[in-house]
Amino acid sequence: MRALVKRTAGPGFELADVAVPEIRDDEVLIKVRNAGVCGTDVHIYEWDAWAAGRCRPPFTVGHEFAGEVVKVGSLVTDVTLGDRVTAEGHIVPPLSYFSRTGQAHVDPATKIIGVDRDGCFADFIAMPASNVWHLDDDISFEIGGIHDPMGNAFHTALTANIPGSVVLVTGCGPIGCFAVGIAKAAGASRVIATDPNPRRRALAIAMGAHEAVAPEDAPAAVHNASRGLGADVVLEMSGVPAAVHQAFALARPAGRVQMLGIPAKPMDVDFATEIIFKGLTVYGVVGRRMYDTWLQMTQFLRSGAFDPTPVITHRLPLEAFVEAMHLIKSGEAGKVVFEL
Ligand code: NAD
Ligand code: ZN
Repeated sequence: MRALVKRTAGPGFELADVAVPEIRDDEVLIKVRNAGVCGTDVHIYEWDAWAAGRCRPPFTVGHEFAGEVVKVGSLVTDVTLGDRVTAEGHIVPPLSYFSRTGQAHVDPATKIIGVDRDGCFADFIAMPASNVWHLDDDISFEIGGIHDPMGNAFHTALTANIPGSVVLVTGCGPIGCFAVGIAKAAGASRVIATDPNPRRRALAIAMGAHEAVAPEDAPAAVHNASRGLGADVVLEMSGVPAAVHQAFALARPAGRVQMLGIPAKPMDVDFATEIIFKGLTVYGVVGRRMYDTWLQMTQFLRSGAFDPTPVITHRLPLEAFVEAMHLIKSGEAGKVVFEL
């Protein structure tokens, strides 16, 4: 089968011909139909300090996908041949402290497909059946293939109190744009999005933002929308230090800041003035809650109130992986997906 392989500890990927994965008795084999490309894949492609510290080549990359079940292990009971599925790509020991207390998303023993074990940029992937998530019949493989980053946005938005709130979204990458649509669907009274990139701001408007402004215009927009109080909820979706400081500054006293974006390196925060004396609640987001985030995502899609399609701007064959990496780095694209 075709697979996009990280062959050695250095830059690049190789499109290789490899054996179809074997499955264990508690796993299923999935024919990948669509796969989302994301910033993590670019880190691994470029072999930056994070990738060099974390990944152990050779392995197949990719962690966002949907497809059809083509083989089922002997112990699997609730997944059958031909099922249309996606999957949670974070694999957690089922009996760990965190799994058993409903906090599997923060288990330090998590293994991630396409990072710590073979991933989905391939014709087939083996997945533990317990990580498989069924798609409704009317959900395309394309939308199924972006459940992972959409789930990040659902987790970030829906662990805050959105109905009626003034919501500020800092960063309109694919995940920020999903979050705009989710906040809108969940009943925010006003959704303000910020991004220095006008293309990204246009995507946020397409996803239903009431306004999308450059970061320097955010204070006035939040002031006007909140009678000077500040945003009830800020969803920090950029990881850029200037945006993190702005998230704390523009949240109202006793407001909530949901932190998804990952700063590239340590940054200074004035805890006393930025967080403590404002009485802020700060929530760190890791992946998707298992599996309440997945259920909420399915139900929002079912309701018709949320449609992620405008965020998908590029559909490419696996062979165009170099172009995919460049598109993501350029900031010119929204979500980039492979069609296999
Ligand atoms: P992305 O890089 O495509 O989007 C970030 C956006 O922030 C870009 O559009 C950029 O123009 C914008 N930006 C830059 N400076 C800004 C500023 N000062 N104010 C506002 N916006 C600014 O990334 P993405 O794929 O949408 O992911 C968003 C973030 O979430 C990244 O930092 C990513 O690493 C992180 N992430 C976290 C998790 C998690 O589990 N915590 C999972 C996936 C991704
Ligand atoms: Zn991803």
